[in-house]
Amino acid sequence: MVTTHNLGFPRMGKKRELKFALEKYWGGDISFDNLTDTADELRCEHWDFQKNIDYVPVGDSSFYDHILDTSILVGNLPHRTQQKNDKPFDAYFRAARGRTVHDASPTFASEMTKWFDTNYHYIVPEFYESNAFTLNSKHLIAQIKQAQSLNLNIKPVIVGPVTYLFLGKEKDSSNKLDLLIKILPVYKQLIAELASHNIEWVQIDEPALVMDLNNDWKKVFHTAYTYLAQDDVKILLATYFGTLRDNLELCAKLPVQGIHIDAVNAPDEVSKLIDLCNADTIISVGVVNGRNIWKNNLNKTLDFLEPIYKKIQNRLWIAPSCSLLHSPVDLTAETQMDSQIKSWLSFAVQKLDEIVILKNALVYGRNSVLTELSDNKTVIDNRLHSQRVHNDSVQSAVKRISQADIRRHSVFDVRIEKQLNLLKLPLYPTTTIGSFPQTAEIRKARKDFKENIITHSHYQELMQKEIKHCIDIQENLDIDVFVHGEAERNDMVEYFGEQLNGYIFSQYGWVQSYGSRMVKPPIIFGDISRPHAMTVEWAKYAQSLTKKPVKGMLTGPVTMLNWSFVRDDQPRNETCEQLALVIRAEVTDLVNAGIKIIQIDEPALREGLPLRQSDWAEYLDWAVMAFRLSTSNVNDNIQIHTHMCYSEFNDIIQSIADLDADVITIETSRSDMELLDVFDDFKYANDIGPGVYDIHSPNIPNTESMVKLMQLASEKIDARRLWVNPDCGLKTRKWDEVLPALENMVKTAKILRIQHDYNDLQKTA
Ligand code: GLN
Ligand code: ZN
Repeated sequence: MVTTHNLGFPRMGKKRELKFALEKYWGGDISFDNLTDTADELRCEHWDFQKNIDYVPVGDSSFYDHILDTSILVGNLPHRTQQKNDKPFDAYFRAARGRTVHDASPTFASEMTKWFDTNYHYIVPEFYESNAFTLNSKHLIAQIKQAQSLNLNIKPVIVGPVTYLFLGKEKDSSNKLDLLIKILPVYKQLIAELASHNIEWVQIDEPALVMDLNNDWKKVFHTAYTYLAQDDVKILLATYFGTLRDNLELCAKLPVQGIHIDAVNAPDEVSKLIDLCNADTIISVGVVNGRNIWKNNLNKTLDFLEPIYKKIQNRLWIAPSCSLLHSPVDLTAETQMDSQIKSWLSFAVQKLDEIVILKNALVYGRNSVLTELSDNKTVIDNRLHSQRVHNDSVQSAVKRISQADIRRHSVFDVRIEKQLNLLKLPLYPTTTIGSFPQTAEIRKARKDFKENIITHSHYQELMQKEIKHCIDIQENLDIDVFVHGEAERNDMVEYFGEQLNGYIFSQYGWVQSYGSRMVKPPIIFGDISRPHAMTVEWAKYAQSLTKKPVKGMLTGPVTMLNWSFVRDDQPRNETCEQLALVIRAEVTDLVNAGIKIIQIDEPALREGLPLRQSDWAEYLDWAVMAFRLSTSNVNDNIQIHTHMCYSEFNDIIQSIADLDADVITIETSRSDMELLDVFDDFKYANDIGPGVYDIHSPNIPNTESMVKLMQLASEKIDARRLWVNPDCGLKTRKWDEVLPALENMVKTAKILRIQHDYNDLQKTA
């Protein structure tokens, strides 16, 4: 026998039902009961999708994030989020967003950061030496009961204690490892409680095992699982996203009843793991990629699985490589997609079908699923040989790239003088990151245009009206460097992908980015080329309305790559070079249209970092080259900006400098500029805009707090190199939040300039 299971299912619903319910709840439009009703219904629907597999996950659904759920589970929500007379989840939403519904006393939200190398973000647990943990399993147990009432064969899913600690952050001078002995009893109590609910298996996720761990962390794994081992509930320890390498033996020797390994990322480790494990350990092999959308090559997978099955028989479990959280829900919803390319794809529901076919082939022989396997082979061959995938002129353009193509003419010191001459910017120039609030009217205009309800010229008129609105607002606010507002963009990657050859789009291929925010990654299926300019008409129009410089806004090649579903038939760096060439062509067109500043966003550069440090150099090398290839075809006086949604780049600061962007804007406000500590030792010469306005929270920052943040920044960075800007784009905010916030931000810059002049005067006096 072979057992099938799933590690987690997408949460938001096929039509993003939970997202909309959450946003209505936060807006005060529906009650908490309405919200939970939606969540309950969705869980049922999702379990139903999974009914053909042997163990369905429970506890994988979430109102915001599963790490924040774990913080609730172990009683570790920050004190500041908890208030008297709180309703359920008030503190949870305060930790996530700074406020709950109609909040009289909002607070600052917890930090948010990327979940391993995915584009999912989790809420960072906060640790203090004084932390006490208590079990708060109500929410999880309610879900278990719900599933049991439906007679499902379930496997609760929780985040393991070590990974939970690993991902959190000490807020004082303590060492989070010391918290292990306090948190373990809570997990033990939870497992006992699961036993009382007749749970046979619990999946405990420990993806920290695919990371570089020092000896202290390695030891902790052993301590934790020795302490948690007992007979009532069996533990399936799940690792995913990478290879185990030096942690493989450690993992194999943990006293657990089962281990899940990501066979997509670590195929070579499966047999090593089996050899090292006890003779009765269950080995769950994650063979179907949970993070891309390509059909599994079932015959090839069977070639891999059959010898394993022969060897370990009913100890073999099969599953997707990781939670399907990172995959869209159901391909059958895609009624408008090109049918040939659609036939190459597989979303969460289809991936589970693949798992079931694989099981049947293993247990009853390939003959028992002959039709399924031969259909699969036809499709795999069709993709392999398709003319739509390969484009000779793109391939030869990539071959022609030379060293000269990746260098600006002069060094920064020379360039910045020429740029200041051209741009005439004040000290502490103010700017925003690109997008302005995306109102219902904007979304409607885009939708109507897409559905041919309005003509191109009508659409253009509506967008121009929006651009003019943004320009007028920036003029009134007295911002120094303008943006056009990005109203025409549904998403910063999709917008470009839609205009490029080699990309295809889904209608419902949403995946969660953070909280209720969903993104629909485009799918790169073939060689990339640009049939026409993509942004020039909007940039040109915006610039025609003002004397202030308007930034041309592009998404960089690395982000295009990292936020798309990418080809699995060619190395990532080759796809990235193709993307860089089309962005480079767009930069050239913008400059020819009179644009003087071009911002190339690379928010996803860091998240593309391989999980293991020893693999970083290779990635950074080609990522930096791709950025430079996109930006180097301009004169010295053209100012190149980049933007990144993080500034935890201590360890990659050299590569950030190597991008050689004239200005970089980064996210720093939630960390109190602590993230700028890296500049103590590293002399970064170019301009920097450390974000002073936390755009992920609806709170409006006051001038005082922003002046303070900028003063902290000026302790690290020469004031002449500093810009004043928000953390990120403003598309998710409302105008009535953005206007007062930006007004305060501009005031901040003016105060700083006066202070600067005053200091100068004092020096000369
Ligand atoms: N220019 C983009 C915007 O403002 C940047 C978004 C991002 O960094 N994620 O929306
Ligand atoms: Zn950003």
